[in-house]
Amino acid sequence: MPWIRESDCTGCQLCIKTCPVEGVITMRNGKAYIDNSLCIRCGKCFDVCPKDAIRPNSENPLLRGRGMGQGLGMGHGRNRGY
Ligand code: SF4
Ligand code: SF4
Repeated sequence: MPWIRESDCTGCQLCIKTCPVEGVITMRNGKAYIDNSLCIRCGKCFDVCPKDAIRPNSENPLLRGRGMGQGLGMGHGRNRGY
């Protein structure tokens, strides 16, 4: 699912006009905001953003943090196995 790198977003709203699902992308404090529970992950907003402010999940620092958390959890499991 996409996320917005807010520092790059100019608030042009092109992504809102392009998104096929109404109400997924809204403006918050002049920046685009994606409601991930509504997003169908079509990827159209990635292509249309002139600032490349819409980034894939793999670059989301928040989710990376979560990934690390999972890694630690697995580590726990291994430790228990010993
Ligand atoms: S991936 Fe598609 S549905 Fe999701 S926010 Fe972008 S344009 Fe909208
Ligand atoms: S298209 Fe890009 S710069 Fe324009 S409002 Fe959307 S995220 Fe921001």
